Amino acid sequence: MTRFAYVNGRYQPHADAMIHIEDRGFQFADAIYEVWSVRAGELMDADGHFARLDRSLRELRITNPKTEAGYRLVIAELLRRNRVRDGLVYLQISRGRARRDHAFPSGPVRPTVVMTTKRLDHAAAQRRADAGVAVISLPDQRWARRDIKTVNLLPNVLAKQAAHEAGAAEAWLVDAGGQVTEGASTNAWIVTADGVLVTRQTDHDILHGITRARIIQRAQALGYTIEERAFTVAEAQSAREAFMTSATSFVTPIIRIDNRPVGNGAPGSVATALRSAYLEPI
Ligand code: PMP
Repeated sequence: MTRFAYVNGRYQPHADAMIHIEDRGFQFADAIYEVWSVRAGELMDADGHFARLDRSLRELRITNPKTEAGYRLVIAELLRRNRVRDGLVYLQISRGRARRDHAFPSGPVRPTVVMTTKRLDHAAAQRRADAGVAVISLPDQRWARRDIKTVNLLPNVLAKQAAHEAGAAEAWLVDAGGQVTEGASTNAWIVTADGVLVTRQTDHDILHGITRARIIQRAQALGYTIEERAFTVAEAQSAREAFMTSATSFVTPIIRIDNRPVGNGAPGSVATALRSAYLEPI
């Protein structure tokens, strides 16, 4: 079966899909992206991801080349062509193609739009969540605007690779003050001894996770108290539970941080309940 990618208005065989070498996404990481999870053929938290897409583009002063309805049409067509019912949709928009020069191109440029899909094995992810995962901590070496979802991901890539080499699923990044910002591709959470959910406040230091926002809503509806504040690795290690959230990992319990067990070393009941609540048909 031929897989397709969408590139600037055309559906191309994935194996041959290309953009120009002077695309500013390639040259400068002058591009943003968005990821939607797809379950049973439906986009999860679609509105939140579209809203963040608009915000990322506005922050970089890239004019949105399409309407939301336009993106939705392409997404539906790509999922259909690639026969994806469970997986993800990846969208990247760069400032476009221009002669290499750091400042924005002076004339009008057409933003580059690329969309791909990927099948994901939700059953394998569920088995991972049932077992719980390990994380390691590392210094956060990223730039100061982590709230913009840019493709400037090299520190995240290096951190994730270090985690994998250490046998961990994720790296928790730690700021200069010793506080956890977030994971390399997930938001970080703990549950305190008295059952309060803690996750870092949304400022410029972390990506404003769409799953994070949804879990706050779900948790509040279930009667949990939420504190949006930073916490240290030591506080997380001695917390009752820890977990991470993202569009593709949903809610995943963390059972070890830097080789120290969290709580009783097994997935916690709060994280497990929130994962089920998030995955319930709404
Ligand atoms: N933080 C970072 C650095 C991420 O890359 C992601 C995944 N995009 C998240 C948090 C989680 O965000 P979301 O729930 O919107 O997937």
